[in-house]
Amino acid sequence: MRVSRLLLVTLRDDPAEAEIPSHRLLLRAGYIRRVSSGIYAYLPLLWRVLQKIAAVVREEMNAVGALETLLPQLQPAELWRRSGRWAGYTAGEGIMFHLEDRQGRSMGLGPTHEEVITDLAADLIRSYRQLPVSLYQIQTKFRDEIRPRFGLMRGREFIMKDAYSFHADEACLRRTYEAMDGAYRRIFERCGLRAVAVEADSGAIGGSASQEFMVTAEAGEDLVLSSPDGRYGANQERAVSLPADPVPLEISECQELATPTTSSIEDLCAGHGFDPTQTVKVLLLLARFADGSLQLLLVSLRGDQQLNEVKLANAVASRHPQAGGLLDITPLTPEQVEAEGLDPLPLGFVGPHLDDAVLKGSRRWQPRFLRLADHTAVELERFVCGANVPDRHLVGAVWGELTPAPEAVDLRAAQPGDRCLHDPSQRLEAARGIEVGHIFQLGRKYSEALDARFTTEDGVDEALWMGCYGIGVSRLAQAAVEQHHDAVGIRWPVAIAPFELLIVIASAQDPLQVSLAEELYERLGAAGVEVLLDDRDERAGVKFKDADLIGIPWRLVVGRGAAEGRVEVVERAVGDRRDLEVEAAVTELTVAIARQRSGRPGV
Ligand code: ATP
Ligand code: MG
Repeated sequence: MRVSRLLLVTLRDDPAEAEIPSHRLLLRAGYIRRVSSGIYAYLPLLWRVLQKIAAVVREEMNAVGALETLLPQLQPAELWRRSGRWAGYTAGEGIMFHLEDRQGRSMGLGPTHEEVITDLAADLIRSYRQLPVSLYQIQTKFRDEIRPRFGLMRGREFIMKDAYSFHADEACLRRTYEAMDGAYRRIFERCGLRAVAVEADSGAIGGSASQEFMVTAEAGEDLVLSSPDGRYGANQERAVSLPADPVPLEISECQELATPTTSSIEDLCAGHGFDPTQTVKVLLLLARFADGSLQLLLVSLRGDQQLNEVKLANAVASRHPQAGGLLDITPLTPEQVEAEGLDPLPLGFVGPHLDDAVLKGSRRWQPRFLRLADHTAVELERFVCGANVPDRHLVGAVWGELTPAPEAVDLRAAQPGDRCLHDPSQRLEAARGIEVGHIFQLGRKYSEALDARFTTEDGVDEALWMGCYGIGVSRLAQAAVEQHHDAVGIRWPVAIAPFELLIVIASAQDPLQVSLAEELYERLGAAGVEVLLDDRDERAGVKFKDADLIGIPWRLVVGRGAAEGRVEVVERAVGDRRDLEVEAAVTELTVAIARQRSGRPGV
């Protein structure tokens, strides 16, 4: 391919829309153009990168026996209603683009394909003899993200590889999950990415075990907590740790204390000499569900702890399985209490024992609180908490006297510096990560909902066991740039570079340079190297700048030395320039590129 025919348009300045290096570089180097918020055109150079990533993904999926397929992007609402996800994915913060067809039937544009594939499995799989089976596809997904940003990192239309596996039993599901784990590690390594596997929250997809693959980078949207010994790593959404020991509260009976104007834990502790670990703070929150129901939450945490919103959402959603999905959880405001026709609540002085009677007469809310408490709060023997009366706290409260009692659940956010569960001498360290892949053991959630059943060896009719496995192909391409760039441009790993070698003709006016470059272009191309030839009639400086920017791993410059049969070879990632005799350059390039292409990171 010749640069003069490539429609290459590079930008000298950083585009204002781009906040992180990889996004800036992909725009400037002519890989992508923004069409609309979260929607990008993949220009020819990027398309080559995406095809290479897809090829690696295909090889590794095929190697673990998965079958490639292609499922529809337009999906009937009916399937999503049957799995119970339609309302949650389309109302409130739901991310599914949806529409009505000319017959007035609701459809959604696929953000993921559990429903479609499970329905197919229900149709196709009859017997244990057909199991296990895995299917995958590489396809555009649609998600109306609340905050599309960072270019391809969080798009509203993006390319994903998604795979689904079906099994006769859980042990078989675990084996395939392990095999996928191995395939994922190979994919990221072959693409030249440093990625780590961490425990993950299963989110709206559901299921039990799940693991994310994170590319560590400053620009990552996720926070990963891990132990220095490498034995534990988890997304903060999911992470667990040992909390600090509480300071005992030296008091033998419960008393009321006047605490005017101290509605926050900090004020309370500063004003009265308590340690935050001696207090229980209570959050009043409102949960909205897709079926329209509204549930008030009374959430108790030890005063020094922070709420993990993902853990809370999971706990709330699992306690309301019939509500069509949780839409959101927001702090309760005095205005909402008033609008509901209720007397003001003692906000800032609420204790875990706030009576359900305060909800009596409410127009739309459930008449009872959902009471949840983090283990750190529940484990306190005596503590300080709100007295449910303005300007008053209880000092020395005990759970037995505060009724109704909350349910104990894990709700606290693990923090960097916390002690690790597997070895308390280790402390959690934080790093930012870009989630490039996610694998799940789904269990039987979808097969039960969509009636995907099979006959076991013993003739029993059972629901299928399922796993699902995603890779953000377009996100991976940008994550690679985030990990491989410098001040002047991209440094693609050879395995996923759009071309392996760029031949630059320093002066397109010099017939000798042109003919040597053309000859090398032919020869190296014939030797199997993917060569791009910069044949533009531009100043050499412009071409070198563009070469650095677009980041082809190897560069061969045909300049004045052409007359003596000499050329310059540059390895982009290393930055060294070497003046070589033509034959030596050809040999070295073919050998080095073949070695790097085979997938060993090295760059
Ligand atoms: P996130 O937490 O980043 O929103 P997710 O957990 O919703 O992602 P999955 O449903 O697990 O994503 O999708 C599988 C993979 O698809 C992710 O690991 C990620 O690499 C990619 N992906 C998800 N959402 C986007 C997006 N909006 N743009 C680009 N890639 C995405
Ligand atoms: Mg995920």
